[in-house]
Amino acid sequence: MARRRQIYEGKAKVIFEGPEPGTLVQYFKDDATAFNNQKRGTITGKGVLNNRISEYLMTRIGEIGVPTHFVRRLNMREQLIKEVEIIPIEVVVRNVAAGSLSKRLGIPEGQTLPRSIIEYYYKSDELDDPMVGEEHITAFGWSSPQELDEMVAMSLRINDFLSGLFFGVGIRLIDFKIEYGRHYANEDMRIVLADEISPDSCRLWDLQTNEKMDKDRFRRDMDNIAEAYQEVARRLGILPESGPSDIKGPQVMQ
Ligand code: UDP
Repeated sequence: MARRRQIYEGKAKVIFEGPEPGTLVQYFKDDATAFNNQKRGTITGKGVLNNRISEYLMTRIGEIGVPTHFVRRLNMREQLIKEVEIIPIEVVVRNVAAGSLSKRLGIPEGQTLPRSIIEYYYKSDELDDPMVGEEHITAFGWSSPQELDEMVAMSLRINDFLSGLFFGVGIRLIDFKIEYGRHYANEDMRIVLADEISPDSCRLWDLQTNEKMDKDRFRRDMDNIAEAYQEVARRLGILPESGPSDIKGPQVMQ
């Protein structure tokens, strides 16, 4: 098949033109970066796992009525998505202190937060994704106040839903980053969940041992990174080896 026209290449994914207007193909690479591109590497098999994990989570999130850009998985590394206009904000939802929050505020990693906290970062590689507030987002027109309200409501729903979903398979959802886009259909525009949800964009700790099952293993030069991602997929019942017929669904942990 003729190679599709590439629209955009990011750190972990490539976006190609889709087979029909209004669609795109999202290709998951094995490349990993951290600390604003200062640390680079490859995690063999990561793209295949993230494609599956993101497919699974986006599908489940769609089922509770939160619109997403996901259409269907095409193959091991590619998924068909709706073309959206990405809102240049990374929405981070936190349940437990970790990463930049711990560093910034001196809160020990692992401390449960009094309530879920939402933060915003302006998507800019040159500026190293600076943290911003609602005032900046609406004053600079990155999103309207109404859109921001909608993103907050959706993010909290996604957080509650994913926290429960992961808890059921023995994983604690510490925090995660999501992105939204504007999807235009006919005369309508609606905000939809975009990008990906995977161990690249979440902190996931084993409920029993607190073992990290996410990209922090890469950030911290730990071993068995792909194995940790694979374990997340295994617990969700979506190991890439299994064909669609033997997807078992989440394995409830006792
Ligand atoms: N995150 C992400 N992409 C980014 C920055 C953060 O996916 O560019 C995710 C990260 O994996 C974690 C959450 O957002 O699950 C919060 O990250 P944090 O602000 O603690 O920054 P980090 O410590 O990852 O630099």
